[in-house]
Order: sequence, then C-alpha cells, then structure tokens
Amino acid sequence: MPKYVYDFTEGNKDLKDLLGGKGANLAEMTNLGLPVPPGFIITTDACRRFLEDGALPEGLEEEVSRHLAALEGQMGRRLGQADDPLLVSVRSGAKFSMPGMMETVLNIGLNDESVHGLAKQAGGNERFAWDSYRRLIQMFGKTVQNIDAELFDHALEELKDGRGDLDLEAADFRQLVETYKDIVRAQTGQDFPADPHQQMRMAVKAVFESWNAPRAILYRRQERIPADLGTAVNICSMVFGNCGMDSGTGVAFTRDPGSGHQGVYGDYLQNAQGEDVVAGIRNTMPLQELERIDKTVYDELMQIMEKLENHYRDLCDIEFTVERGKLWMLQTRVGKRTAGAAFRIAVQLVDQGLIDLDEAVTRVTGAQLAQLMFPRFAKDAETTKITTGMNASPGAAVGKAVFSSERAVELAGQGEAVILVRNETNPDDLSGMIAAQGVLTSRGGKTSHAAVVARGMGKTCVCGAEELEVSTKERRFTAPGGVVVSEGDVISIDGSSGAVYLGEVPVVASPVVEYFEGEGDTGDELVQAVHRIMSHADASRRLDVRANADNAEDAARARRFGAQGIGLCRTEHMFLGDRRQLVEDLVLAASPQEREAALAALEPLQKADFTEIFQAMEGLPVTIRLIDPPLHEFLPDYTELSVKVALAGEQADDKDRRLLAAVKRLHEQNPMLGLRGVRLGLVIPGLFAMQVRAIAEAAGAVPGARAEIMIPLVAAVQELESVRDEARAILAEAGVEALVGTMIEVPRAALTAGQIAEAAEFFSFGTNDLTQMTWGFSRDDVEAAFFSKYLELGVFGVSPFESLDRDGVGRLVRIAAEEGRKTRPDLKLGICGEHGGDPDSVHFCHQVGLDYVSCSPFRIPVARLEAGRAALAAPTDSGTR
Ligand code: ADP
Ligand code: MG
Ligand code: MG
Repeated sequence: MPKYVYDFTEGNKDLKDLLGGKGANLAEMTNLGLPVPPGFIITTDACRRFLEDGALPEGLEEEVSRHLAALEGQMGRRLGQADDPLLVSVRSGAKFSMPGMMETVLNIGLNDESVHGLAKQAGGNERFAWDSYRRLIQMFGKTVQNIDAELFDHALEELKDGRGDLDLEAADFRQLVETYKDIVRAQTGQDFPADPHQQMRMAVKAVFESWNAPRAILYRRQERIPADLGTAVNICSMVFGNCGMDSGTGVAFTRDPGSGHQGVYGDYLQNAQGEDVVAGIRNTMPLQELERIDKTVYDELMQIMEKLENHYRDLCDIEFTVERGKLWMLQTRVGKRTAGAAFRIAVQLVDQGLIDLDEAVTRVTGAQLAQLMFPRFAKDAETTKITTGMNASPGAAVGKAVFSSERAVELAGQGEAVILVRNETNPDDLSGMIAAQGVLTSRGGKTSHAAVVARGMGKTCVCGAEELEVSTKERRFTAPGGVVVSEGDVISIDGSSGAVYLGEVPVVASPVVEYFEGEGDTGDELVQAVHRIMSHADASRRLDVRANADNAEDAARARRFGAQGIGLCRTEHMFLGDRRQLVEDLVLAASPQEREAALAALEPLQKADFTEIFQAMEGLPVTIRLIDPPLHEFLPDYTELSVKVALAGEQADDKDRRLLAAVKRLHEQNPMLGLRGVRLGLVIPGLFAMQVRAIAEAAGAVPGARAEIMIPLVAAVQELESVRDEARAILAEAGVEALVGTMIEVPRAALTAGQIAEAAEFFSFGTNDLTQMTWGFSRDDVEAAFFSKYLELGVFGVSPFESLDRDGVGRLVRIAAEEGRKTRPDLKLGICGEHGGDPDSVHFCHQVGLDYVSCSPFRIPVARLEAGRAALAAPTDSGTR
C-alpha cells in the first residue's frame, strides 16, 4: 500500500510532486532546524485517488490516526481534549503555489468544552480562546460548508458597531460564536460539528475537493498548471498570533519582489491570526517596526531569512507567527517576483557567488523578458496625478475604470480596455483581473491578494492607494481634492511607480527595448542585468534566431534585436497598394503577351524591394517565400464590385465587367485549401519565374547577398521539382547562387519529407498552416467560435496556434526532420510560423534539432533567451516559478 502520510521530519523541498510546495518546504524548514510547529502531510497521491474514486483511499484514515497520535504524543495534548486541547490547521498546498485558490482552516479542535481548555492554556485568556473559536466556525463554515462568507462578515460588522477589532472583548466573541453557530444551522440544517476528528476529516475532504473549484480551474488554466496534479493537505499544530499584543502574524520577502534589492520587506500585524494580514482588517505595520516591538524575535527572523535565502539560493517569501514572544515559521517558498526583479536578482545572486551564469539564465523566462519590453508612460507627458499607491506589479495600464469583475469581463468582451478598481481583491475577482489591463486597490500591501496574483499574471497593479474612497456599490471612487471617477472614466495606472492618473497618459518604449535598439542607457541596472543574461543565453544556445520581416525597416530592427537572418520574407504585400493595378492586369490577361507585360511591370518593383532587404541584412541569409495567397485576395470585393457594375448599368466600365467575371471565376469555398502557394506557380506561367528573376537580379546587385528561395504549400515532391528546375535555370543564367527549399506546412509534405528532401535544400516549418491542416481548424473561424469551450473542456491546455501541439503537429515536425535529414544530411531546418517566438515551442525546436527559429522582430530577444534556456535544459512551464 502506498505511503499517504509524511511527517514534516520525513519530507524535503524536492518532494513537491508528492507533498505539494507548502508541505515540501515546511519539511525542508523543519529539517533545517527552524522553528516550525510540528505536523504532517497527506500526499497529492491520496488527493488524486480521492478525486478519482470519490472516497478517501483505503488505509488513509488509519495512517492519519497514527500520525496524529504521534503528534499528540509530541505535543503532550490531544485533539479534542477538553481541558488542554491540541489544535491544528488543515492547509492545502499544491505543487505550484496558487495564491488564495485553495482552502485553509485554522483552530480545528475547538468546541464548547475545549474552548475553556484553550483559555486555560493561555493563562486564562478568554478573549483569545473565543476569538479562536469564532474564527474556526467562520472559516469552516465558509470553506468546508460553502456558506456565503458575507453572512459571517456581516454579523461581525454588526457586532463591532463601529468599533475596531481590537476593541472587542471576550464576551463579544462569545456572543459571536453563538451567532455563527446559528448561521451554520440555518444554512446547513445541522449543528456546527463539535467532534474535532469530524472537523478534521471534513476539512481534509474539502481541501481535496477545492482542487476542482471553478476559480482553481481558472487559475490553473491561466498559469498553464496541469489539471491532474492534485493538492496535498498539511496538518499543522496551531500556534497563536492572536493572544495579545506580544503576539502577531506577518509575511515577508527576503528581498524586494519589485526591484530585487536586498532589505527588509514585509508586513506585520499585532494580535492577529492567519489571513488578517492580507485581508486588510487593520492597517499592517512595516516589518521594520517589529524590531522596536520585540528585538529578539526580529533578529531571529532576520537570521532565518538570511539562512533561507542562502539555502534556497533565491528570493524566498515567508509567513510567520509570533506567539507571546516566540517566533514560528509557517511557510516559505521561492517567491514570485516582477519581471525586472527576476533579472536583477539572477545577476545579484551570481555576484554573491550563490549561483553561476548558467543557472541565472534558467532563473528568468522569455515571458518575463517580453514583459520588460512593454511600453511605459512617457516621462514628460502632461498628467493629472490623483494619488499614489504601492507599485505592486509594473507596467503602464490605461483603461476605463470598472468596479466589479463581472463588469470588467463584460466590457473587455466588447473590446474595451478596463482597469479593475476594488477596495481589495479576493479569489472571486480572478476573472476580472484576467480581463482587465490593470488592477487598482485602495487597501492592502505588496503581499495582498491583488499584488501577489497580479505579479503572477504579469498584470499591472497599484495596490493600497489609501487616499481613494472606493464605493463598489455606487461604481465610483473619490480621490483627494474631490476628484470623482465613475465607471467608464478613463484612468492610467503606473505599476512601476504606483501613480494613478486621470485620463489617458501616453506610453513610450521600455528602456530594455531602447537597449536592444542600441539607444539605451547602458548604465541602467536593469539593462545591465538583461545584457549579462542575454549574452550568456546567446553564448549557450545552439539554435539560430531569425526574423520574419518583409521590408527593410523591419529587417533593420530585427538585426538590432539580434536576428541572424530572415527566416520568412513574405512577398505578397509587394502586390498590394498601387501595385494592385498590375495584379489585376495579370489576372485579366487575355493572351500570353498581356500576361508577360503585366509580369514585366511587376519585376523591377519586386527587385527594388529585395535589394533593400539584402542591403539591410548585409550578407546574412534571407529566406524569401514566393507568392502564397490566392490571387483573388488582391482583387476587389465581389459584392462591392457587383454593386458598382450594377449601378453603372450600360455605362459600366469594360474592365470592371471583366474583373467581376474574374472575381466570380476565382471565388473559392475554402481559400486556405484552394489555388495558392506552389499551385499558383504551376498554374500561372511566368509568375514564379518573375519573382525568382527579381531575387536573382537583386542578389546579384548587392555584394554578399545570401538568398534562399522558399516554395510555399508543397505537398508532393513533383510539385517542387518543376518549380525548382525553373528556378535553378534562372539563377544559373544570372550567375547567382541561392538555396532552393520548401515550406513544410501540409501534412502530406511532412509525411513524405524523405522524398521532398530530394528536391529541397532546406525545410521551413510553416506551423500556422500545418496546425490548421493537422487539426482541420480554420484558424480565423475556430478561435472565436469554440476555443474557449475547448479550453474549458481541456481538449488542450493552450491554443495550438499559440504553443506548438507537440503530440500532433510536433510529431509531424519530428517525422519530417528525421526523414528529410535521412535523404539529405545537410538539410537546413527552421520554423517560421508564429510558434517561432513562443517559449515552449522554441524548446521543442531545440529538442528536435532544428537549425533556427524565425519570429517577428519584437519576439527575437524572447526567442534568443529561450533558445539559451533550452540548451541549458531550463523548464519552460510558467507554473514552475
Ligand atoms: P495560503 O496558502 O492561503 O497562504 P496557509 O495554509 O498558508 O494558506 O494559511 C494561511 C495563514 O494561516 C498562514 O499564513 C498562517 O498565518 C495561518 N496559519 C496556518 N497554519 C497555522 C498554524 N498551524 N498556526 C498558526 N497559524 C497558521
Ligand atoms: Mg500561506
Ligand atoms: Mg502558410
């Protein structure tokens, strides 16, 4: 029988799969000799079984009893012992931290008898005992019994009647316990369970079940955390921060999660328990003040934080409690951080000798780099600042103020940019936070729910803007000076400075982008960190990174961003604008002479386009794709044209009439699968030849130019052969050397890659089309029509257009790469779909042995970094951090 329960002394930090992050780290801290209240962990394995079978696995309860008995022995008190009770917390803890997602119940073991025993333990502190009891009923009712939390909150508010929570006395809490019990009875039809063992059993089940709560599912999807991991449950003996002013509870980071700077960052709340710090019941004090309150505890905490940082070799966040002058550690983990802090911390740790550069590269992600490339607010813009809150998660966000998550989702669905404004957020606001450009709260510190979740999502957040009076009911807030912002008014928030502005503030490029552009201030600390990490990623990667660029300007930018060539230069835009006329002539050509004349007119224009690009790339390879889209895309719209012709009647232009006929003739039911790509080249004589001639002439005119001619939409080697022969002849005549290769974007091409490689000198995987055709998805139709349903159903965890589908599309890529290289060992392999800039897909490309990835210019730094990370075997999963 599997072992389902581990004592804290039995686990360690590397057992996160089995013990969850919280449990594994509680075990690690225990074994480091830190003061952790004793306890044990029920494994994720038990959870998975429970969720599969709908019942606790056999043997689990017995194993729990054994560990509980041992814990009782160690503590010298028993769960439910009336005169001297052991209390425990039941805490969820999955492999990846899911802030606020899962449920925790404190003070399990209290009932009408043991509450007196607890008071006795605390030297007759009745207030503390009844406060703990009412907290149990409240948390248990809310999380285990699914009772609306507002009922409890409301009862508490009513009892307080304007008083602060510290003004409440034992009798008040005692009364509250009765009220709470009534609420439970009214809501569930049953009494609050008085049996501590039953309390514990129910809480454990509730933790297991909360794995499948809708908001947990939503968070997992957002963070790409697999749905089948399950959560562990931690049973931890209670320590009490709520037994007087010499007690308290707090959270802290070993460094500033916003800047990465070392120092003391945390919040502390006296005479409080558990969630009080983040819930914002009272204003917390900065952790530094603990030094004044209790220097011994403060010094010990500082020592522990240093020990943790050196041990984990990374920024850690912690949760702790002080019980009557004694410090207890309740949680630690490698902390979430902003993108900028991730880069800074990685190089700081290198400089401290804690990690090497290889590891530093694995400590940052392409997604974080992409975030640093976001624009920010213009420094010299005219602004109306209305207040400043805490800079909880960086970025510049502009949008209409909304005061509920429902409204945020609704307006965002209509394409509006919104800023979610709340007093504080809670897990139910997740959907609104996802929908919003940014989040603004009036309460809570850098460790509040809003701050933690926004940082995790890379969403701009300003929190704790205390000067704002937010009325969610009236859907407006008031700022100092009587400024009123109502729903729909535009505001701008700066997550890097904490500033809140009225109206729309213009945004500018980030310093990191300016650095890539070669115009940045290289003395900037962040820029230096990015530079060091990028240099090492470049030195480590095997994949080349190229750009998708169709003009000289993009090509030049791509080079500044580090592109080693162009992997996809589309030629279709070269047929647009005032050149449409020439395309129309081509389509309407009634004789070979007319057709040749049209092509001859296009050729010098194309040559000029290519010349510019070759010049910009200065001898780096440029892969040019011959025309791909169906020709009707260049012709006027059918309906418009028919209306025009109909209105003109007898007077209608002859060309319009002929055009209309052509548009009708060329109309296709499935243009994506119609007359396009190589098929056009084979059907319209001279079209491809004209393009190849333009390429050859341009390459001949630019010294060092390296052209690679790419034929799109090939499905059979026979298609490629004739086009290739014609291209070879033209190149030979012009005395220009160029590779001739093909895209692999039709499943048949992947499956017959061994044959196709006979005629192709390179393959470039066009994974957009390959994904469409492998899944049978018409991209432009399906994404809006049913992808959200598919995501919900778990058909895929992320759209296959966003991240390459390894099992299906990836398998075709693998087959084509292997078989192509069998035929032609020096076959050059690349990818030019949008996946070329997606982190996970870049890792895949590294693993299957491609030579390069090609992506849009702005994604190039991300691809460079991820290619380096792939070579250093770093994980790609965003949920791992
Ligand atoms: P979350 O995952 O939401 O952070 P936790 O399980 O960490 O939930 O519990 C939240 C808070 O409850 C902790 O930060 C701590 O303050 C308090 N808590 C949990 N277990 C105990 C305990 N055994 N004794 C005292 N406080 C506890
Ligand atoms: Mg916690
Ligand atoms: Mg394509």
